[in-house]
Amino acid sequence: MKESILHYVWQNKLFTAHDLQTTDGERLEIIDVGRNNTDAGPDFFNAKVRIGKTLWAGNVEIHNNTSDWYKHNHHLDKSYDSIILHVVLHADGVVCRADGHRIPQHELKYPEHIDDNYTQLFSQQKWIPCSNKIGLVPSIFIQTWKNALLTERLEQKMDSIEKLLSENNNHWEEAFYITLARNFGFGTNSQAFESMAKSLPISVLGKHKDNILQLEALMFGQAGLLNPEKQDDYSIGLKKEYDFLKVKYGLSPIDGSLWKLLRLRPDNFPYIRIAQFAALIHGSTKLFSKILEDSKIESLCKLFENKTSEYWNSSYLFGNKSTTHIKTLGSQSINGILINTIVPFLFCYAHHKNNDELKSRAIQLLEEIPPEHNSIVHGWEELGLKMENAYDSQAFLQLKKQYCDEKKCLRCRIGHKVLTLI
Ligand code: SF4
Repeated sequence: MKESILHYVWQNKLFTAHDLQTTDGERLEIIDVGRNNTDAGPDFFNAKVRIGKTLWAGNVEIHNNTSDWYKHNHHLDKSYDSIILHVVLHADGVVCRADGHRIPQHELKYPEHIDDNYTQLFSQQKWIPCSNKIGLVPSIFIQTWKNALLTERLEQKMDSIEKLLSENNNHWEEAFYITLARNFGFGTNSQAFESMAKSLPISVLGKHKDNILQLEALMFGQAGLLNPEKQDDYSIGLKKEYDFLKVKYGLSPIDGSLWKLLRLRPDNFPYIRIAQFAALIHGSTKLFSKILEDSKIESLCKLFENKTSEYWNSSYLFGNKSTTHIKTLGSQSINGILINTIVPFLFCYAHHKNNDELKSRAIQLLEEIPPEHNSIVHGWEELGLKMENAYDSQAFLQLKKQYCDEKKCLRCRIGHKVLTLI
């Protein structure tokens, strides 16, 4: 049996708690199991136990067998002198501190069905380990876990925003612009988009925001995409403009080979996404301030409904004419931007300003956005879980990626229920 299940049983007090004894036959009462330590050193800190008539406060170490204490050389390590109880599944000897004093030991007993559930859970090769049991978990548990998962997801996204803020002198508009650019890469070109935005300060774009040709020249130039195989008058014009602006602002472009077109639908080609991004900057100043002023879902969606410059109506690449089609962002793409950039930024800003109302607004926005459509969301739906909105889909994406895929069932509230099912 893995030691992790023993830790789990101890931490969640799932052991048989009456008539406890040490392996020496002394009466044992477990008052406080202590705090789980995930770093080096004893497994649980600050536990409290009564052995006989004496109350002990200190640390607890857990092993499968007594002999593991010696295999891990704890008998030579002074940081284990504070152990007040050695908890084992099988006592196959005695344990002593570095100074030779004997340490009380206890053989852990717990219901058999926990072991059975654990073995079943971790032997599953299904989409998620608990797929044949999750239907037995009461929805109230899933609901409360979902709320915690959503907060966890937003806090993780907040960490990346914090990092960007500290790299950009706490300039919210700059950090927002870089994150938004990354989002315009829609996965495949996110890294390239972010690098392009980082190489092109928003203050430079701001000086040319009324001139779409110059905005495109700056963006396509910095993206390293102004030396296409097929030139035309438009790309030559952009290049000429860019060459001038590049020197004026001392800009260095990124490597154009970072951009990927393979397996992308033409509407997702980086050329189209860059043109849409340029149109967005052209259509609005101080985007993040605008969003803070009006975070109604209709107003937010409207912000992203910009049309590209005319050239892109009949092109997907430079020098290749195609049938005319106006390339605005689709509703799914806008929803993706709301979910991945707008909501996390509002949440992070609200956190910085101690603004609970804005925090609630950020979360409420997720409830107003439809759920994402991807294989993970569909996987959960196939297991019978309803995805009503982006709040649900974001929470369950977090669960799949951070817990199920990592087999962290012992840290999952659904896992807790599944393990204790009789
Ligand atoms: S992490 Fe939770 S939801 Fe995922 S497989 Fe394990 S128990 Fe199930």
